[in-house]
Amino acid sequence: MRLPIIAGNWKMNMTKDAALKYVAELKDKVKDTDVEVVICPPFTLLSILKDACEGTNIKVGSQNMYWEESGAFTGEVSPVMLKDLGIDYCIIGHSERRQYFGETDETVNKKIKAALNHGIIPIVCVGETLEERNEGKTESLLKEQVTEAFKGISDDETRNIVVAYEPIWAIGTGETATPEMANSAIAYIRELIKGLYNDDISEEIRIQYGGSVKPSNAEELMKQNDIDGALVGGASLKADSFSEVVNF
Ligand code: PGA
Repeated sequence: MRLPIIAGNWKMNMTKDAALKYVAELKDKVKDTDVEVVICPPFTLLSILKDACEGTNIKVGSQNMYWEESGAFTGEVSPVMLKDLGIDYCIIGHSERRQYFGETDETVNKKIKAALNHGIIPIVCVGETLEERNEGKTESLLKEQVTEAFKGISDDETRNIVVAYEPIWAIGTGETATPEMANSAIAYIRELIKGLYNDDISEEIRIQYGGSVKPSNAEELMKQNDIDGALVGGASLKADSFSEVVNF
């Protein structure tokens, strides 16, 4: 049985007071859930939220990291620094980072390796654009992204990785992939992992769906066989709606 994982990607939102208020509200609302709950705020909030979530079942992740441990990389944050704060998860290769900040399959692979080397669980994002879907290229694109992302990563390390299938056309648009569409892309990713590794690992690895997940569609999505949770953007910005997704 795979433990579902529901993560909130706050993107570039929230300041200190609002974030502390959010956690104060969220912690009671999600305390009885069976799913793993993660919030991914901007770097500036990681430290105070890690403290605020102490003693709760809410885990804290970052939205990005660099792959080197230290050095002359102005503006970057290393896995050592995240681990120093006790951060357990890191979103890697989000489509917004690929689109606006030059993230490539190669940098994604480097970041995954660095995260794993420091005991941070990567939440690796993959997904196609609308154009790619319309041209029938979804599977070939996913194959390329998954194969490159997992290059040089051992069987044992792979078990710990979380993959997030996020069709780009469904992110922040209000347009969700139908549960069947999401499930079939995720089942395909599981097949790819089986080809790269083996049956056991493909059955163990958790694969989330992301893209306009909200309280009204979470249950339908989570019912699908291959969907092991959600990466939630817009609906994670309010404790109320995020808790409703978590308690689908
Ligand atoms: P959304 O974002 O839920 O606002 O579509 C999801 C994401 O970008 O991870």
